[in-house]
Parts: sequence; C-alpha cells; structure tokens
Amino acid sequence: MALYVHKYGGTSVGDIDRINNVAERVHKARDRGEDVVVVVSAMSGETNKLVALAHAVQERPSPREMDVLLSTGEQVTIALLSMALQERGCPAVSYTGWQVRILSDASHTKARIEDIDTAEIRKDLAEGKVVVVAGFQGVTEEGDITTLGRGGSDTTAVALAAVLKADECLIFTDVDGVYTTDPRVEPRARKLDRITFEEMLEMASLGSKVLQIRSVEFAGKYNVPLRVLSSFDEDGSGTLISYEEAGVEKALISGIAFNRDEAKLTVQGVPDRPGIASKILGPIADANIEIDMIVQNVAEDQTTDFTFTVNRGEYKKAMEILENTCKELGAKKVRGDEKIVKVSIVGVGMRSHAGIASKMFDALAKEGVNIRMISTSEIKISVVVDEKYLELAVRTLHEAFDLEQPH
Ligand code: ASP
Ligand code: MG
Repeated sequence: MALYVHKYGGTSVGDIDRINNVAERVHKARDRGEDVVVVVSAMSGETNKLVALAHAVQERPSPREMDVLLSTGEQVTIALLSMALQERGCPAVSYTGWQVRILSDASHTKARIEDIDTAEIRKDLAEGKVVVVAGFQGVTEEGDITTLGRGGSDTTAVALAAVLKADECLIFTDVDGVYTTDPRVEPRARKLDRITFEEMLEMASLGSKVLQIRSVEFAGKYNVPLRVLSSFDEDGSGTLISYEEAGVEKALISGIAFNRDEAKLTVQGVPDRPGIASKILGPIADANIEIDMIVQNVAEDQTTDFTFTVNRGEYKKAMEILENTCKELGAKKVRGDEKIVKVSIVGVGMRSHAGIASKMFDALAKEGVNIRMISTSEIKISVVVDEKYLELAVRTLHEAFDLEQPH
C-alpha cells in the first residue's frame, strides 16, 4: 500500500473549520486506500503566544523549560485532529513526540532528531488507523522534552517519511507551492513546478519561510520526494522538490531568497596574526550561535577588521561574548548593526554561466542600493544591504533576471 506522510502547518489547523478540512482530506486519502501518517504544527500564532508568555515571566527562560512550554501547542492539534477523524468514522490515534519516541539530542530549542521508533506507528497503520504525530518535538535519552527549532514540524514530517520509507512527504501549507520569491514582497512572483533539493536548501536557509532548512537537508540525504502544496486548494500539484533531472534545461536563476533576521557584528583593529579568526569565533560557536557570512579585511596598520553575521535573535548574546573576546585580544572596538538583511539569488543554472554576479550588482547599483557584504557559493550569490532596501532589492533582482516569465 502507498504510504504518505502529510504535514499541516499552523494556518492549515488554525481553527476548528480548518481542522475539519484537514480531517476531510486525510479521510479521503485513507478511503483511496493510502496509508497516512499526519504531522501537525500548533494552531497558527500559538507558539508565538507561548514564547511571549515565557518572556513575560523571565527575560531569558531556561531552554529546558521553554521546550516543556512550546511543545504544548502541538499536543492540542494532534488531539483535535484525531477527534475530527474519529468523528468521520476514520480510525485515528494521536502521539506526542515522546510517545512515539522521537529521540533527539539535548540541545534544547534546537534539538536534532537521532532516532525514531516506528514499531507502534507501523502497528497502527497495519490496523487501518491514521497516525497523527505532534510535530516539532522530541525527547532525550533522559526523558526531557525537546523542540526542534521554529518550523520544526517540517523536519518531523520528513524524518518520519524517511524512516517509514514513505512514497512522498506532502507539506500542506497556506501557499500553493514554492515561489520565485515571496509574493508579499514581489506580487509578480511565480510558482515553480519543481526545484532541486540544493536550490530549496538555499532558498530555505536564506529565509524563504516555506520549509525549515533541516527538513530539506533530511529529504535530500534520504532522497524523500517532498511536495509543497496548499491545504486550501483541492487539486493543485504544488512544487516538487527532488534531485536535478538530467536533460532538463535549467533557468539561470530559480529564485530570490531573503532573510530579515540578520544582524552583523564587527571587531575592529585586531592584531593581524594566525589564530585570530578562531579566537573570535570559537566562543561564539561554543555558545551554539550559528554564524552565517564572514568577511575579514586587513588594514594598512597591520590590524584587521573582522565582520560576521548571526541571527538577529542571538545578536545580544553574540555581542556580549564578543565584547569579552575583544578585551582579551586587545582589539580597538566592537560594532554591531541589527538593521541589515540578506538578499540572495539562487540557481543551479549559474554553475555553467559567467557574469551573473556582475548583472546582479549592476541592477542593484542602478537603483542606488548599497551593498555592505557579499558572499557566493556555486549556486548562490548573497548580499547584505540595509533593511530599508529589502523590497527594492528583491523586486529589482526579480525583474533583472526575468523571473516572472516561465523558463
Ligand atoms: N509550532 C512550531 C513553530 O511555530 C513548529 C512548527 O510550526 O513547525 O515554529
Ligand atoms: Mg512552518
């Protein structure tokens, strides 16, 4: 029997009507003879509400307690969806992450899945039940509740699809697929029929909020075909994320990603000698803060300026750490800027074409957008610009690379 993992995000289970809609769809799939495992997020806005509650009590709540709190959102939706299914005469059973035993490491609020026990799920499927699993949560060896990072339900779904060897992992969301860029920023953005794992990884990691990055990594690693589609639209085929197809001519650029959650930190006037980069970034990494772009420049006086970007949410923590390091290293000064964004063009097609970067910089220059940092990879070029230029930069690039036209 074909097995599908369905994942429904917060807006798709945002109220009782919507939960009933999801139940309809799942019931239909079940009636077609498909085995279905459903992963759900918390109702939209709930996780944010829980975060706000925590911060109303404590400025920096302990990550362990944060996870106990945040995991409750998904527990509500699994129960409600199971009830909605049962109400329709469709046998269903709900499980939290720890009931399944989605084993994770202990890095609270951004834990990684290590193992999933599928025995119970397989047994339920064999008995004809729909299995409804809470997304975003796991449990450590010691029995502590963990969460997988914001948007982590996608990862739960893909990980389950991988271990269960599902035919496809369907990610139902409030958009009907992956777009060339965020349509809220560029209304002429176009839905893509397919995109490669690699491109999606860049789009996701660069802040296109459709899918959590870890879920795409997982899907690529275990070759789980991933389809993003709308839970409100009956017959759309969404966007298929898979490996690059031989013989299919690729557009130069598939999309434009951006990330508003960036902040940048600079250490000025550090002595230019071996080991400096590692002394600056070591303590940041030890604090489990992810670093994105890095730029280092040597000045004439043999000192160097060292700039890197982090997630805006970790800016304060990174700044504190850096100020201490700065004293130890005898650096002149630490500076920071929280009002920056990153805009990137992404496409496997750029591998075989020169001149993409200059076309990008040229288009931005014509609109007077100042570029503060640049980084490149084989299939991506990113620039950091002031927050106020985000919309202008995205629209300019969308136009320059002709993305509103199907290729
Ligand atoms: N509810 C969690 C969040 O809002 C997980 C998810 O929706 O995927 O981030
Ligand atoms: Mg999501």
